[in-house]
Amino acid sequence: MPHSPKDGNERVLSTLNADGTRRWLRPKPSCGRFHGRRRVFGWFLIVLFVSLPYIPINGKPAILLDILKREFTLFGKTFLATDTLLLMLFVMTLLVAIFLLTAVFGRVWCGWACPQTVYLELLFRPLERWIEGGHAQQKKLDKEGPNGRRLLRHFVFFAVSMFIAHVFLAYFVGVDTLALWVRQSPFDHPFAFLVMGGVTLGMFFDFTYFREQTCIVACPYGRLQSVLLDRDSLIVGYDAKRGEPRKRGKLVADEPRGDCVDCFKCVATCPTGIDIRDGLQMECIHCTQCIDACDSVMDRIGKPRGLIGYSSQNAVSGQKTRFVRPRVVLYPLLLAGLLTIFVTALVNKDTADVSIVRPPGATFGITPSGDITNRIKIRVTNRSETSQTYQALVVGVSGAEVDRPGEFRILSAELPATLGSGESVLAEGFVATPPHVFDKGRATVTIRVVGEDGFNSEVDYQLLGPWTLRK
Ligand code: SF4
Ligand code: SF4
Repeated sequence: MPHSPKDGNERVLSTLNADGTRRWLRPKPSCGRFHGRRRVFGWFLIVLFVSLPYIPINGKPAILLDILKREFTLFGKTFLATDTLLLMLFVMTLLVAIFLLTAVFGRVWCGWACPQTVYLELLFRPLERWIEGGHAQQKKLDKEGPNGRRLLRHFVFFAVSMFIAHVFLAYFVGVDTLALWVRQSPFDHPFAFLVMGGVTLGMFFDFTYFREQTCIVACPYGRLQSVLLDRDSLIVGYDAKRGEPRKRGKLVADEPRGDCVDCFKCVATCPTGIDIRDGLQMECIHCTQCIDACDSVMDRIGKPRGLIGYSSQNAVSGQKTRFVRPRVVLYPLLLAGLLTIFVTALVNKDTADVSIVRPPGATFGITPSGDITNRIKIRVTNRSETSQTYQALVVGVSGAEVDRPGEFRILSAELPATLGSGESVLAEGFVATPPHVFDKGRATVTIRVVGEDGFNSEVDYQLLGPWTLRK
């Protein structure tokens, strides 16, 4: 029997029985106008997820998150770990967009686009019904011990989880590497194999056992709903004024009676096991299944649809819903500001990254001709989309331009370097300078790194030298 406050069996969680054991939910699907749209949209997202690693943009996958190389390619643009400003702006923009989306459309993400809902409701549960049968058969199997159908379901769930785990891995290593690994022994790439195995087991556990509890107890976004939603946000709500007093059975003359026939179809279809008639609850993921279930009941008894429907807390309590309110004005303004800064920073991003460091413990040396040499490491990363050649030279010393360039040399076997898009070079070498530039053992040189595409970056670097006073 589905849970209701009237059954005298109050629950702390819709997924727990009173004795603390798991209450397995076997929701009955309700096919209606929203379910049809969710199915089309959800399958579009699944196909997109599987295809994105295969779609090339500027010669790279549409999305490639190369953690080992610390390179993140998103739709033709490659970001490096050093792009902290861009990354911070991106995360802030995303957060504000989520706040705005939730303030206006409530938990539309949870019900329509979250991978947990999309995969569970549109892939795993339909597969389960196909293998085990409908709601009643599944309940029967719950009471039985291990049986063939459940074993087959486990096998199919594991295979599907493994497929999704491979697609997931492709986002991090690319489809070519993945195809190679699939043909090789796991011992050739043990770490990747462990990652794939872990993701497979995690998904298998989630979609086979944990299921709706991910939304109810584990998802941080679900926990934040009470602060992200306001009384005018879109919710799935029950029209109590119209529905109450709810009554089952035949109409008795003069008996006050609302439109709800207390059929529990909205509860039986709910993937999180709640009764929407109890009001807005944190467990409600706004999946619209109860809307479709109730609409079909209303159609059958000849009443207008919409006893359960998209609404707002104000509308449900008989007040006017306001669309314009402070957070709906402030969030878009903030979003526009962040997007402007993000796009400006992206467009003005340098086409190369340069860093110059002294190797640990290095001091200075003196050549037979009396020049002072300092060891340096110059890292150059090509951030442009084409191959470039880079050169480094000393253009200034202690704040002044070098007047005799021939006396200042950067000696490195790796420079000049020709780098493909996204490639780096770590050039080790020496800066050779005449001894007269040092003052109290120090001299600051300005090193310029130039690229064929006009890239030009100047970095100050402090040299160590003999303790002489410059005249
Ligand atoms: S109450 Fe309705 S909208 Fe909310 S989770 Fe249950 S079925 Fe989905
Ligand atoms: S499906 Fe509609 S009529 Fe049936 S119990 Fe739910 S709200 Fe009432």
